[in-house]
Formats: sequence, C-alpha cells, structure tokens
Amino acid sequence: MTKYILGIDSGTTSVRSFVIDEAGAVVGFGQQELTQHYPRPGWIEHDPKQILAAQLEVMRAALRSAEVTPADIAAAGITNQRETALVWEKSTGEPIYNAIVWASRQTTEVVEKWVADGIGDLIEERTGLIPDAYYSASKIRWILDHVAGAQGRAERGELLAGTIDTWLMWNMTGRESFVTDVSNGSRTMMMNLKTLDWDDELLAHYGIPRSMLATILPSDAHLGDLEASFGAPIPIGSDLGDQQAGLFGQAAFEPGQCKMTYGTAGVLNINCGTEPQRIAGLTPSVGWTVQGTTAYEIEGVLFAQGKTMQWLRDDLQLIHAAPDSEWYAGQVQSTDGVYLVPAFTGLSAPTWDPYARAAIIGISNATTRLHIIRAAVESMVYQTRDMVEAATSGGQVAIPELRVDGGAVKNNLLCQLQADILGIPVIRPKNHEATIFGAMLLAGLSTGVYGSLEELSGMWAVERVFEPSMSRDEADGLYAGWVAARELTKGWTKNLPQR
Ligand code: ADP
Repeated sequence: MTKYILGIDSGTTSVRSFVIDEAGAVVGFGQQELTQHYPRPGWIEHDPKQILAAQLEVMRAALRSAEVTPADIAAAGITNQRETALVWEKSTGEPIYNAIVWASRQTTEVVEKWVADGIGDLIEERTGLIPDAYYSASKIRWILDHVAGAQGRAERGELLAGTIDTWLMWNMTGRESFVTDVSNGSRTMMMNLKTLDWDDELLAHYGIPRSMLATILPSDAHLGDLEASFGAPIPIGSDLGDQQAGLFGQAAFEPGQCKMTYGTAGVLNINCGTEPQRIAGLTPSVGWTVQGTTAYEIEGVLFAQGKTMQWLRDDLQLIHAAPDSEWYAGQVQSTDGVYLVPAFTGLSAPTWDPYARAAIIGISNATTRLHIIRAAVESMVYQTRDMVEAATSGGQVAIPELRVDGGAVKNNLLCQLQADILGIPVIRPKNHEATIFGAMLLAGLSTGVYGSLEELSGMWAVERVFEPSMSRDEADGLYAGWVAARELTKGWTKNLPQR
C-alpha cells in the first residue's frame, strides 16, 4: 500500500501543507495567507491563534485534495519561520501577547541592555550568535516585561514560551508534546551550541525560567502524534527551522555541500560537519541532528536579493515584472562598469554595516536602463560571492558547487552569471520546494518510509547545471569592481552632515 507523508510549513507570509506519496510526488496541497500586524513602525507581530487555525485548515485541505485519510499518512514533518516567539498560559492555551516576528525590531533595547550589562561575549561564545533582536530570547523577555504580572506567573510555572514549531505541536498533540528541535533551538539565543540544551547561565541573565521552555529533541525524533481529531493519530517525525529544512531538502548531507536561496532576501547555508565552525561575518547554527549525528551549518543572510528586482519594478518602474530582468539584462554584454550595491537597509552578511546605504555607481553618458537592470542582477551574484569568499577564505570550508533555489532561480542569466563569478557549477534541482520537502523527507526517514540518507539523495534530481564559462581573470576583475563599489557605500548615513 502506498504510504503518504504530510508536510506542515508555517511560514512568515503564509502557512502551507503538502501531501506527498513515497515517490515524492505532490498529491495534495493547501495554503493560506497570514495577517501581518504592524502595531508601530518596525514592529511585526502575528496572531498565534490565526497561525494555528490556518495551519489546521490547510492540513485538512491538503488531505482532502489528496483524497487520502489520516490513516494513510505514515508521518508528518514540520518546518517553520524561525526565531518568532510567543508566550502562552499553560492551563488555557491562551497566548498572553501576539507572537513577535523574527524581523521585528521592537526588542532592540532589550538586547542593547544585555550588551551594556557585559554579556555580549558570553552570548556569542555559548550560542554562536551575535546578540540581536532577531533571535527569540529578547522577544520572550520583552513579553514578560510588557504584560502585567507575567514574570511572576512565569516563575510560578503558569506560562510556557516557544517558537512556532513548539506552539503548533503543543496544540496539535492535545497538549501532550512540549518540544522543539536543535535547529530551531539554535536560533533562540538560549541554546548552547555544544551541549544542544538551554544554557542555564544565559537563562539566568535573561530572567527566563527554564520551566517555560520546551524539551529540545533531535530533528528526527518522534515529536508526538497529531491528535485523533484528524481521525487517526499521525506521528510527527521531523522538526526543522525553514532554512535548515531547505538545506536538508537540497540533500546537502555532506560537509561543504550548501544551498543558496534567492528569494526576497537571500540565504546561504553550508553544511560544515560535526563541529561548529566560527567564520567572521557568517553565523554558526545547528543544521540538524539526524540518526544520532549533529550536522552544524554556517549561515549568511542577504537583506536584498529579489528585493532589488521589486525596487526596479515598483519604485523605479524600469521593469514590469521581476522575470523581465533576465531579458533586459541579456540585451547588453556587460554593465560597462556600472555597479548597483543594494544596501537599502545597510550591508548584511558578511560585511555587516547598518550605516551603509544603496548606491549605483559608474554611470556615464552611455549608461542605459539596460545597464542598470543588469547591474541589479549582477548584485545578486556578487553578494553571494562575498559570502562564499568569507566562508572559504580561511580554508575551514571548501565549496565545490552551489545548489540553488528560491523564486529568482528561474532566471537563467542569474544562474549562469553566478557560476561564472564563483567559478564553480551552479546546480538547479527539479524540485523548487526544498524547504517543505526537507521536512517531509526527514519525517519519512525517521518513520521508516525511507531507509537511508543515500535513498533521499537519490530522490534529489538535477534540472540544470550551469558550468562556469568566464575566465577567472575576467570574473575576478568584475568582482574587484564590486568590492570597490561596496566599500564606498559603507558608513554613508554616519558620515552625512546633520541636517
Ligand atoms: P520569498 O522570499 O518572498 O518567499 P520567492 O522565493 O517567492 O520569495 O522569490 C520572489 C523574489 O524573487 C521576489 O523578490 C522577486 O523580485 C524575485 N524574482 C522572481 N522571479 C525573478 C526572476 N526571474 N529574476 C530575478 N528575480 C526574480
């Protein structure tokens, strides 16, 4: 009898669910948008009950469209927006405040205070993370500070806190499972990168009682059973943060294997083996613990990848749609020395400068919009090389090829330029849904639908390989121009005369 796997993908802008058969074919699907709440500039929140209700609905929709019953489902796998955190009442399940979303800046002051208190180095040493409002710890601290009586109630054991995977699994297992996995834990700024458990010294500094926090399990643990409200209990066989799920879905199981996602933002994840690596400008996290082995990863985030295309489309109105960029950029052989550095909100990995601002430089009388559009496409490629250079320059990591995904990789010119500028093959797989597939394939592995990681590697199929065709001299020359342009944008807002 065919076995099916249910995928649960709790994203930032939408929640989705897939049903696949054991050959990996999608047989059912459901999706709903999530409401983004912006209570003040820079704040982003989600209603946790909407996330739960929408997720359950899309799971039912996926099962309906697959025409399978829960009894046909061998396992469920979960992947989720990382870092986003909430606090809820143990006795009623009521959230005491909205979930604070990863991108929200409302907890910046909490982190600034921790750094001023002198625990910045300790945080980095224990968690690998440079203290930032991005990670969950400051979000939990903020909620405990802003909801009357919350700290006392947390200390009396009346409140629970967690990331979205934990919230969903607690609710969907009839409040049986209060769990998370190592990949999600590694993005909270509370988990010790070595012990893979909550760090008691950090929790004491944060004033977050350990009793509020879930048990951290391997990513392929039996995390609980989806309640019988589905008609039959379905074992949850995987839990992975979204980027780690993407790395797993790209079958990057060996050290040096990596994936680059070209979405609105860009994310590079590199499997770096069984020991955490520290590389300046990039972030060490846990990829996963699977079959008793922990794979660490190195991660780099680019604030603006496809975002630059949106800017050309919506603000400059140089293109009608993002995919048009490929045709326009292909009308010229080069940018003729024009560079676009998309530091709209500062430079992200690996150079990190919040004061930088975007620039287009090298414009001459001969510059046309074709050159600007090409420069925008090229910026995606150069930014990726910045991260690859940072990762490989110390010799700790070697990257023989780049596996790519995300909405922008349909752009063949982008993929070819990426191969040319890096000097390594760029590999575009057939399946563009690496994230939810990562979670589903791992759930299948942990419940015996699949026998081994090798079997999963065999299911990952190449659509097209882009081989580098540019000379290294030419590629390095173009890249040197980018580096010079990028350096010019640094510190821009800091150095401006006060108006
Ligand atoms: P998200 O990160 O929002 O999930 P997607 O992975 O769906 O994004 O990718 C959408 C992003 O990719 C948008 O920012 C869009 O501008 C960009 N994009 C989409 N198609 C292309 C293309 N053919 N060439 C360049 N950029 C593209």
